Amino acid sequence: MGPYQGKRPERSSWIELSGEAFAHNLQVLREISAPADFGVVLKGNAYGHGLEQLGPLALQLADTVYVIEPREALWLRGQADTDGRTVRLVVLGACGPGEAVELARAGIEVAITGDDHLQWAEALKPHGLRLKVHVHVDTGLGREGPVRGGYEAWMRTLAAHTDVFDFVGLMTHLANTEDVTEQDYAREQVAGLREALQAWKLVGLPDDPFVHAAASAASMVLPSSRLSGVRCGIAAYGLWPSTETRIGLKLLAGTLPELHPVMRWRVRSQIVKTVPEGGFIGYGCTHRCARDTTVAVLPVGYFDGYPRRLSNRGHVLVDGHRCPVLGRVMMNHLIVDVTEVPDVGDEIVATLLGTDGSEVLRAEQLADWADTINYEIVTRLGQHLWRVVLPTSGE
Ligand SMILES: *Cc1c(COP(=O)(O)O)cnc(C)c1O
Repeated sequence: MGPYQGKRPERSSWIELSGEAFAHNLQVLREISAPADFGVVLKGNAYGHGLEQLGPLALQLADTVYVIEPREALWLRGQADTDGRTVRLVVLGACGPGEAVELARAGIEVAITGDDHLQWAEALKPHGLRLKVHVHVDTGLGREGPVRGGYEAWMRTLAAHTDVFDFVGLMTHLANTEDVTEQDYAREQVAGLREALQAWKLVGLPDDPFVHAAASAASMVLPSSRLSGVRCGIAAYGLWPSTETRIGLKLLAGTLPELHPVMRWRVRSQIVKTVPEGGFIGYGCTHRCARDTTVAVLPVGYFDGYPRRLSNRGHVLVDGHRCPVLGRVMMNHLIVDVTEVPDVGDEIVATLLGTDGSEVLRAEQLADWADTINYEIVTRLGQHLWRVVLPTSGE
């Protein structure tokens, strides 16, 4: 066990997770898309929220759980399934031959995305194991699987391996649903997937595969992409895929459901002090105090996932007040101006992400400052950070 596991550090930032918000979002997403199969994506350490913390909840609330890495799925399989229900687990990312054997043993499914399956087949044979696979085709993202025009030939070569593979699913991933309010490109991709389904039938792969394409945005705004089931990531955590998705759903449904952000990131100050007028703050002396300034030094920095781009740009919340980031964000430190906060005292708790009093700092706001997307803000939060699931109200 390394130094980042084990006991909770007494002085560090921490992430509070609302299981209630997570459950609420899943319910909302289920209602919007009413999919035959409701899938939740827990890749990237559950989008930075914590696989360990949200995994067990997802196993209770979803029909299928998607991850990137084999080890994530194997860990989830090791958690007790509730109600005797066995949730379908699907590995979407790269997988080696040894891992394929482990997945087959654990009854976990995996997507074929390239030529790795040839090695899986060799590794599985001596054990007499069978592996459930989904065939991922490229309908316009330029990522996993063969491009349009090559489906039939590819599936013929796959069909030669029915001795080790059970072909259970056919999938694609959409390229351009979040950035637009009209879905012509996505519709064309869904047409590509239907073409792949024809090839599937033509080469004699098993009837009625589980056909899936929609991530959060498409599940909300493109009904024809819902097919056998959806794979919701970002929205499950209470974050909108994009502003365009909000607009698209408003146009389609007339109303907008509320998604509740699951995460709040907080930190206790290391020292609060007054830097006199004319004093400098941080590396490079990029901030000079125009007045006597009460600052709070927060033990959090870009190592933890707080973007350095927020130097002299972002703010944090303290008792519902916006407190600007002064100077550069450092590896393990961040300095904020708390002069305007009444009754500061010698210690404060700052909210880096989430609600504080009547103010809220959304991942979208941090993304905007950092010139990136909300997905990157949350998934970059360090795995070493302490994460705690809040008790549900009523407990
Ligand atoms: C990440 C991912 C998803 C989920 O995307 P969101 O936009 O977060 O909902 C679904 N499918 C695949 C293949 C993915 O890689």
